[in-house]
Amino acid sequence: MHCPFCAADDTKVIDSRLVAEGDQVRRRRECLSCSERFTTYEVAELVMPRVIKQNGNREPFDEDKLRSGFLRALEKRPVSMEDIEAVINQIKHALRATGEREVKSLVVGELVMEHLKQLDQVAYVRFASVYRSFQDLSEFRDEIERLEAEPAAN
Ligand SMILES: [Zn+2]
Repeated sequence: MHCPFCAADDTKVIDSRLVAEGDQVRRRRECLSCSERFTTYEVAELVMPRVIKQNGNREPFDEDKLRSGFLRALEKRPVSMEDIEAVINQIKHALRATGEREVKSLVVGELVMEHLKQLDQVAYVRFASVYRSFQDLSEFRDEIERLEAEPAAN
């Protein structure tokens, strides 16, 4: 990288080590032209992509929304909170790993269904058919909330 003192093109790394419990790499650099030394820190960019809804609106990824979706789907099912949290982390990891700045809500929905299938077959079957006709997690959630708000028909 360029020297911040004289803007020379070439600097060399004279020391490199892990800091912040291995989450950062600290590098001491020396300019080949002016011999000034400076430090750079390298961190992995872990930004959640934004979600593109069916109607084209963009919204920030909402972990709480994802969690409440799982809790709703797995209500009264024998799945631990620990397993749900693990799955949420896997989904976040998968979304970051795309390297995309924006992902379609459909992609998030498919990941949810895929993980729900592994967590609990009954919950998966119960919700998959309904979800498929919505293709959008927030639309699906709205529909479930609407149904729940209605008085019982029987
Ligand atoms: Zn320099």
